[in-house]
Amino acid sequence: MHLLRTVGDSARLKAALASGGRRVVVIGAGWIGLEVAAAARGYGNDVTVLGQGAVPLQRAVGAEIGAVFAALHRANGVDLRMETGVSEVLGTDGKVTGVRLHAEADGTAGRDAQDGEVVPADVVVVGIGATPNTRLALDAGLEVADGIVVDAAFRTNEPGVFAVGDVASVFHPVLGHHLRVEHWANAENAGRAAALSMLDRAVSYEEIPYFYTDQFDLGMEYSGYGDLAGNAEPGVPR
Ligand SMILES: Cc1cc2nc3c(=O)[nH]c(=O)nc-3n(C[C@H](O)[C@H](O)[C@H](O)COP(=O)(O)OP(=O)(O)OC[C@H]3O[C@@H](n4cnc5c(N)ncnc54)[C@H](O)[C@@H]3O)c2cc1C
Repeated sequence: MHLLRTVGDSARLKAALASGGRRVVVIGAGWIGLEVAAAARGYGNDVTVLGQGAVPLQRAVGAEIGAVFAALHRANGVDLRMETGVSEVLGTDGKVTGVRLHAEADGTAGRDAQDGEVVPADVVVVGIGATPNTRLALDAGLEVADGIVVDAAFRTNEPGVFAVGDVASVFHPVLGHHLRVEHWANAENAGRAAALSMLDRAVSYEEIPYFYTDQFDLGMEYSGYGDLAGNAEPGVPR
């Protein structure tokens, strides 16, 4: 059973996938889950992806683009099961043998899981997201709400203490609310801006989040913010 957090995790996962011919179950149909699924298929494994919601990536890119990714994975032989939860990971002798499914309670349409069904697995990858480690900030008395709360210049409520990157919930002047972004472009650009802020330069960070992904032969780049896309109706441009 694999998590994907570190370079070491990545090397272990590659070793588990590279020979092909294994039954791989990926829990989570977000960026990590789908990219792992594409790589696992590339090595010739049987791949099942279990995801919440009607289409993958809906919160990130909206229903219309999410449907494109669903079709892409199915066309490449991935058994993509949406509106599907996991009640149990089964194993014996320290090795996984399968994943027990449950249908989402509100999954009225497109339900791909039978309650109690077991999908056999040789390899299970858990790609269901991360939460920011804010322990140090909490202990230090900083304001924390889904990340360390900072203004558009990365200043916390404590003078002289700044936060930036995945762990920071930054006020975005264009969107008018706080935003926590888990992408490397944000870590890079915001890091530079935070350094200027620490040097007492005037900073108001207005960068629009940027992200790219490569899955099978599809490359996608986006600039934007997930909630805007997520609220869009399929086929209705915003
Ligand atoms: C598997 C995986 C795939 C990803 N793929 C993509 C991708 O394709 N595209 C993309 O844009 N983004 C991707 N990301 C996200 C991207 O890696 C992060 O957004 C980026 O690394 C955030 O940078 P950061 O500096 O904010 O935090 P991190 O890179 O997490 O760095 C934080 C550092 O602080 C250290 N630290 C934590 N607490 C303490 C402490 N108390 N004292 C001292 N040190 C501490 C940690 O050990 C770590 O080294 C991926 C992430 C993962 C895990």
